[in-house]
Amino acid sequence: MSSHCRIPLVSVALPSYDEAAAMVAAEAAEVLNCPHSIETVALAVANRRVLAQPIRADRDMPSFPRSTRDGFACRAAEASTHTPLSVAGSIRAGDPPAGPLPSSSVWEIMTGAAVPTAADAVAMVEHVEHIDGAIRLVPPRILEPGENVVPEGAEARAGDEIVPSGNRLNPAQIAAAASCGYGALPVFAMPRVAILTTGDELVPVSEVPAPGQIRNSNATMLAALVSQAGGEPWILPAAVDTDEAIEAALREATQADLILISGGVSAGKFDLVEPALARLGAKIHFTGVRIQPGKPLVYCQVPRGGDSPAVQVFGLPGNPISSAATFLLFAAPVLAALSGSSEACPRFSVALLGREIKGKPGLTRFVPSACSFHPLNSANLEVAPVNWQGSGDLAAFARANCFVAVPEGIDKLSAGELVRILPF
Ligand code: AMP
Ligand code: MG
Repeated sequence: MSSHCRIPLVSVALPSYDEAAAMVAAEAAEVLNCPHSIETVALAVANRRVLAQPIRADRDMPSFPRSTRDGFACRAAEASTHTPLSVAGSIRAGDPPAGPLPSSSVWEIMTGAAVPTAADAVAMVEHVEHIDGAIRLVPPRILEPGENVVPEGAEARAGDEIVPSGNRLNPAQIAAAASCGYGALPVFAMPRVAILTTGDELVPVSEVPAPGQIRNSNATMLAALVSQAGGEPWILPAAVDTDEAIEAALREATQADLILISGGVSAGKFDLVEPALARLGAKIHFTGVRIQPGKPLVYCQVPRGGDSPAVQVFGLPGNPISSAATFLLFAAPVLAALSGSSEACPRFSVALLGREIKGKPGLTRFVPSACSFHPLNSANLEVAPVNWQGSGDLAAFARANCFVAVPEGIDKLSAGELVRILPF
């Protein structure tokens, strides 16, 4: 095959965003069903890892009836008569359950302490008056049985599932695991993601580019996106635009679980990635999507020989904003599946649009935008496009924190509309 021949599928009509996303989702579902290796990590470093077995309650939660207030453990019916009740003693958080509770008496109790068995409520300290060593619930307030007490096992029973497998852990779940006695957790191994940048114009970040050259910003940007999405980035040396360099680098990259190639997928004379993938026997899903930016995106699988499953490969357009958008839209769901995560991906949100955005005929647009996540005067997130000079404008991109989706067939999104955003 000559080095510049294209993969035949490129002439087929390009899929829409929805069609391409559906193809990726179907592949991701298959990837998720394949076995994943498991490792054990200390709880302190388990945040954002994907849980490989459910976290279960090791005992009833709470394991004793717990007071939610500082006050007086009592019988609700007795306290509601507003007669003075004598204070039998004091219970601090950490004390063993106290008792007994003779009639017409209460125990002083602190938040988090065990409520004596005979008590069925806690009168808040703010709601009682003190009379000669006794207390009285101030009328007209009355107390219902169960008030200010969490019964034993009300949160969960011993053996209950607290966090399901496949869940990417968050700090609340780390706390739940700690309270159930997990010092370490089984998690899925992080997928290794090869990052292969291509282009004769690229120089390392530490160098001053000569006229016509640019620094290789995609390698580190993609590494950051991969880390943020729960993968382990593996940055390969940048490849020059020759068949030999690209093919050799691709062969090395097949050791990874996922390959991200940046550049070389457009229609230019030196866009050599698709032919190289074809020579490696790639099974192509698509070689372009009706989106802007990111239209030349390639998605395929390259066989590895033997019993090894094929490696997932995305050829991302080289322009940085195109690379970022196509990673978030298409590569991230496959990476999530390789991570064992069963959460929905990509995670779109909605925000109130501050400024009109025009659509493009025949394309779904993803417009770099800034969303204010702390609006002062509105319950909605507010989003506005950043002013940019095209998909190579990294200064504009650095002011953005999301993409606004403008669906295909939409003339414009107007200010004041609720729109879909993809935060990063
Ligand atoms: P390509 O997709 O190879 O045609 O690249 C399109 C444009 O993206 C190039 O002309 C560069 O300006 C830019 N580009 C390509 N690769 C990178 C990279 N690794 N880092 C930053 N910009 C890049
Ligand atoms: Mg290039």
